[in-house]
Amino acid sequence: MRRKLAAGNWKMNGLTAQLAEVEALCAAHPSPSVDLLIAPPATLVSSMVVTASDHALDVAGQDCHPESSGAHTGDISAEMLKDAGASHVILGHSERREDHNESDDIVRRKTRAALDAGLKVVICIGESLEEREAANTLDIIAGQLAGSLPDVLTGENTVIAYEPIWAIGTGKVPTLAQISEVHTFIRAKLEARYGEGVGRSIRLLYGGSVKPANASDIFAVPDVDGALVGGASLKAEDFSAIIKALENAA
Ligand code: PEP
Repeated sequence: MRRKLAAGNWKMNGLTAQLAEVEALCAAHPSPSVDLLIAPPATLVSSMVVTASDHALDVAGQDCHPESSGAHTGDISAEMLKDAGASHVILGHSERREDHNESDDIVRRKTRAALDAGLKVVICIGESLEEREAANTLDIIAGQLAGSLPDVLTGENTVIAYEPIWAIGTGKVPTLAQISEVHTFIRAKLEARYGEGVGRSIRLLYGGSVKPANASDIFAVPDVDGALVGGASLKAEDFSAIIKALENAA
């Protein structure tokens, strides 16, 4: 059975004072029945690790460089995230793909670097509104899966987040049938490429405007193993309500 995962992506939000939200979240969930993960900005990774040290909350980076060290001003390697105490890294988020022109090939190289460094990865894929309107969603998803994932991975070290770009930060959410169609498709692709055992063990998160009000409905969709949550992960109260919805669905 795949254990459910509630993951928060703080993006470029959060100063030290924001760690109070993590303290409140940990206090509200002393022994969660689902896995909890937050990806703060890089500046807060090590302090969040300390804040969460006695709690069942893992800390992730939001990106890493494909190389382990070198002349890459401003970049952070997977080893550095690991050294700071992170257990995971988010890779291929649509904002990275768009703001930094990240291709599937770069995402795959970053994924290899992260896995080599002993990090677990949350790899994001998803279509734009134009692609969906042109009925290309499944082709886009197939291409991103083929190009972004390395040939060797496991359900233990890899999570896939399906995040339609048009749903991120917009308040727009696909229908449950649309989410189900894509998750079923991703599961079939993973089983075909990695074999049934590994393909079935990889967790699939939905991401895009998940809120306390819609979380239960989304978590009832088969093959949705949790959520990658942006805006609603910044406030302990909202993220906690989403975590409770996931616990009730588990
Ligand atoms: C995200 O950043 O991955 C995301 C899904 O954001 P939001 O929940 O704010 O739409």
